Amino acid sequence: MPLGGADRTVPTDGVKPSAATRALGLCREQGFALTGVCDARPTDRGDELRTWLAEGKHGEMGYLAEHLDARLNPDLVLEGARSAIVVADLYHTRDASPDVPEPGRGRVARYARGRDYHASIKKRLHAACDVLQGEHPGHTFRAFTDTAPVMERELAARAGIGWTGKHTLTINPRLGSWFFLGGILTTLELEPPPDQPAVEDHCGTCTRCIDACPTDAITPYSIDARRCISYLTIEHRSRIEPVYFERMGDWIAGCDICQEVCPHNSARPSPDPALAHSDYAPRGESFDLLKVLGWTAEDRAEAFRGSALKRIRLDMIRRNALVAAANAWRDTGEVAYLEAVRAAAHDEAELVRTTARDLLDDLDLPAASPE
Ligand code: SF4
Ligand code: SF4
Repeated sequence: MPLGGADRTVPTDGVKPSAATRALGLCREQGFALTGVCDARPTDRGDELRTWLAEGKHGEMGYLAEHLDARLNPDLVLEGARSAIVVADLYHTRDASPDVPEPGRGRVARYARGRDYHASIKKRLHAACDVLQGEHPGHTFRAFTDTAPVMERELAARAGIGWTGKHTLTINPRLGSWFFLGGILTTLELEPPPDQPAVEDHCGTCTRCIDACPTDAITPYSIDARRCISYLTIEHRSRIEPVYFERMGDWIAGCDICQEVCPHNSARPSPDPALAHSDYAPRGESFDLLKVLGWTAEDRAEAFRGSALKRIRLDMIRRNALVAAANAWRDTGEVAYLEAVRAAAHDEAELVRTTARDLLDDLDLPAASPE
C-alpha cells in the first residue's frame, strides 16, 4: 500500500564494488528489470510514518503499526544489515497489454492479472541469495518483498531505482511505475557501482494523479489508504462507506488510475514488453460481475489460484462486485444488474447483505421482497 514522502539519494562508504556488481548481475539474471544497491541505515522518514499511522490513514492494515520498529530500522529485520540490494520487477507495458474496459465486467488492477508476485519475486531472490551466501559464507542475506516490514520505496530511491511520486509509488525515469519492488538485505557492505544513477524527483508542478483520483485519496506524497479504491477492494474487510460507491466505478480488485494518468507512464514510449517478467502475463483483466455475485467458495478458489487476489475473501469480492454492478446499472440501465443488487439484499453473507441494502438506499430504491 502506498505511503508518503519524498526521498534523497545518499552515498554509501562501502569498499567492495566488485561484490555489488556481482550481486546486481545475479539479480538481472533472475529477470529483474532494474537493480541497485544502497546502505541499510534506518529510515529518514520515521516521524512522517508515525504521523500517518497516528492519523489512522492505514485503515484496517494494523500490521503496518505492529511492525513499526522493524520498518524504521533494517537492523531489526536482519541483524547487522549494512546494505540493501533493491530490484524492480516490471509487470506491465502499454504495448503488451492495453486495457479494454467492458460493460458488466469488474476490472482488476494490472499488478494482479498474472501470477502472484510474492511467490515469483521470492523464488528468484532466494536463488540469488543462495549464490551470494556460497560466495560470502561469513555474511547473511535476507530477501524481502512487500510482506516484510521494509521501507522498500525509500530504499529504491537510495538505490537509484526511482523517485517516490506524489501518488507515493516509485517512478523510474525510463520505465515508469508499473513494477514491483523487492530486494535483499545483507550484512555485506556494498558500494554502488559508478554508473548507478542518482535519483531526482521529476513530479515538478504536475498534479495529474491528485486530480484524477476518484476518491480524493492523494495529497502530495501521501495517501489516505481509507479512501483508496485499492485498499477498499483488497484490504478493507468490512462495509464500504456509501460515499465511495459510485466513485469505485468498475474496479473490483485494486485501481490503476493514478498510474494510468501519470505522464511518466502515459506520455513516454512504452517499455519493451520483453522487460516485463513472463510470470505477470495477464490471465484475465476482468471478471463477469453477475458470475462473481454467484460464486461459491470453490469458484473463488479456482479463479484466484496462484494469484495475489487470493487475499480477497469470498464475501469481499462479492461485496466489490455488488458495488460495480450498481454502477453498471447506473451506466447502462440494464435491469439485470439492479435485480442482482436487490436479490443480494437477502443474502446469507452479512457483508453482502448490508452492502446491497446500503446500495439500494444510495440509489433510493427498495429491496425486493424475499422469495
Ligand atoms: S487513483 Fe485509485 S489507486 Fe490511486 S490513490 Fe486514487 S483510488 Fe487509490
Ligand atoms: S501524475 Fe504527476 S504528480 Fe503524480 S506521480 Fe506522476 S508525475 Fe508525479
